[in-house]
Amino acid sequence: MFNMDTDYGSMVFNDVVMKKRLPKEIYESLRKTMQTRVPLDIGVANVVAGAMKNWAVEKGVTHFTHWFQPMTGVTAEKHESFVSPQSDGRVIMDFSGKELVKGEPDASSFPSGGIRATFEARGYTAWDPTSPAFIKGNVLCIPTAFCAYSGEALDKKTPLLRSMQAISKEGRRILKLFGEGEDVDVVTNVGAEQEYFLIDRSVYEKRLDLIYCGRTLFGARPPKGQDLEDHYFGVIKPRVAAYMQELDETLWSLGIPSKTKHNEVAPAQHELAQIYESVNLATDHNQLTMEIMRVIAPKYGLACLLHEKPFAGVNGSGKHNNWSIATTAGENLLDPGKSPAQNARFLLFLSAIIKAVDDHQDLLRTSVATAANDHRLGANEAPPAIISIFLGDELAEILETIKSGADYEQRNQSQLAIGVDVLPVFPKDSTDRNRTSPFAFTGNKFEFRMVGSSLSIAGPNFVLNTIVADVLSQFADELEKADDFLAGVHAIVKRTITEHERIIFNGNNYSAEWVAEAEKRGLMNLANASDALRLFASEKNVKLFEKHGVLSKAEVHSREELLLENYVKILHIEALSMIDIVHRDIVPAVIGYTAKVIDALNKKKSMATLDVSLESKLAERLSGLSGTLQKDLESLEEAVMKAADCGDTVESARYYSTEVFYSMQSLRGSVDELETLVGKDDWPLPSYGEILYSVK
Ligand code: ADP
Ligand code: MG
Repeated sequence: MFNMDTDYGSMVFNDVVMKKRLPKEIYESLRKTMQTRVPLDIGVANVVAGAMKNWAVEKGVTHFTHWFQPMTGVTAEKHESFVSPQSDGRVIMDFSGKELVKGEPDASSFPSGGIRATFEARGYTAWDPTSPAFIKGNVLCIPTAFCAYSGEALDKKTPLLRSMQAISKEGRRILKLFGEGEDVDVVTNVGAEQEYFLIDRSVYEKRLDLIYCGRTLFGARPPKGQDLEDHYFGVIKPRVAAYMQELDETLWSLGIPSKTKHNEVAPAQHELAQIYESVNLATDHNQLTMEIMRVIAPKYGLACLLHEKPFAGVNGSGKHNNWSIATTAGENLLDPGKSPAQNARFLLFLSAIIKAVDDHQDLLRTSVATAANDHRLGANEAPPAIISIFLGDELAEILETIKSGADYEQRNQSQLAIGVDVLPVFPKDSTDRNRTSPFAFTGNKFEFRMVGSSLSIAGPNFVLNTIVADVLSQFADELEKADDFLAGVHAIVKRTITEHERIIFNGNNYSAEWVAEAEKRGLMNLANASDALRLFASEKNVKLFEKHGVLSKAEVHSREELLLENYVKILHIEALSMIDIVHRDIVPAVIGYTAKVIDALNKKKSMATLDVSLESKLAERLSGLSGTLQKDLESLEEAVMKAADCGDTVESARYYSTEVFYSMQSLRGSVDELETLVGKDDWPLPSYGEILYSVK
């Protein structure tokens, strides 16, 4: 039985453990490093490493690893044992400060997007003391950043940490103007809501497409999809409940505050939300959550699918990224306050976000652009690919009043003046009515809903932090020079609403009218990842990231290259998997079944009086479709072959997003139609119905 008091966080070298096991000065010095990021003295690191090792060994741990997040999107680890042989034949368990602080994994097989070719072939991992070490199995995991020897980031964590520094720096400038003390820092918090599918392992193992690609490449629509919507918040089946229980307990023991779990809209779809934390921790914890979800599933005879769109025509999976900005004094800067001063601050931060989102629609879109998410954005029940902000009617009305009102100095009694008047109160729960917006204000946080279920949240959050930091820095430049601070704030808020009104949309984002309206407003509509990703390394974006020290020019370019490369690779693997499955599974099934039908037809024909219309019609349709199948198969094979002629990655990505993609769709169309004709026992793949309702 899990005991909340003693088992929660028991696998984490957290503050309580540190306090207990470290000498006071060492503890203080480590705390300082964690809060202010000053480098740790090696003497201190040695003591910390020793304490960590002793704590871990007591729990049966034999190995340690630098746990990092390379650009592959999954986490990487290389286990090394603590074992240190002694001259007398014994071994002792040893772990030094040097081993804690820095590691040198063989970096050559991790993607670098050209960075290592230009600089240095090796990479290193560096301890991130702001995320505590933890135990997984018999391994002590030390969260680290991963860089090239020349210092270029090769991972997802480094730019995130840098973006936290950027928003802290610019946020503090603003807070200082509001009279806040030097000791108060600005942080961003994130709560991720993770969607996933659970299916029976036996059907999973029969679907090579799920095994190779994480999604079904074929599958005719089932007669009962999610039409009845009887799964949402429905009763959780016992096997799933047992899985969720172990998942929760494992997460809790790792100090991951898993909070809610429920069934989602689609059959076999579920959600897990964790309580929000500092963005760096939230990112590490979400990576761990996804890993554990996958790892424990087989114990229950299940397979966990984290792909954004495992089944065409059925709801996809997303990961709502709830983001807010707060002070270390515990105040949420997105909370409309009770006093005029708090409200002025709220409106200024709100304005910064509105301007940031409008100015950097491209970056936000890019931050969620993957081959997998392409199947989800714009599809059934998912945010469209157009970025807009939902504020809710009450808040939009307040902004409208400010926009149409007189200037701060000339205002009259009936007009709102920032920093003087209290905002009209608006009910919090009424802000969350719109479930269709990609970026919705939900009372005291923004919910970015375009994030795909399998994506690391590091990307979207380092972009969010950076674009908001940038606008805060522009606001600070202006306000630091202003004679009348509150008049300055008023002017900024008013100007922001006037200039960036187009990004605010409170209507139904899923409607066709919105797409037309958004175009009229001049908003970007980047339909697929290939279109979005090639904007990442634009001059504007390079300048932005360089200004805030988040990514260098070389890093921005290498990232764009990597993301596009990854996009191409995924489509390539999917195309090859399709070809393989068609040749080896579908074609034999179609030939075999057609032969059976023809056989039956001939037998019947030999008895002159029998009606053969069913058999002959079916044989005709099967043979017609076989012809189409053959043509589609050839087209896809040709499209894949020609891909080799593409000049660079940008061209390759464009080619795959059009030629290869369309050929894949045609082939799928033929196969899916054949599935509806071939007898159930002769079809080689479990059907959608069998998969979606496989967990009894
Ligand atoms: P829902 O979105 O389903 O209405 P909640 O609003 O309760 O549910 O929370 C959803 C997620 O948002 C949770 O992960 C929660 O921890 C997170 N969250 C709540 N408040 C904040 C905040 N101030 N900053 C960031 N995330 C938050
Ligand atoms: Mg939500």
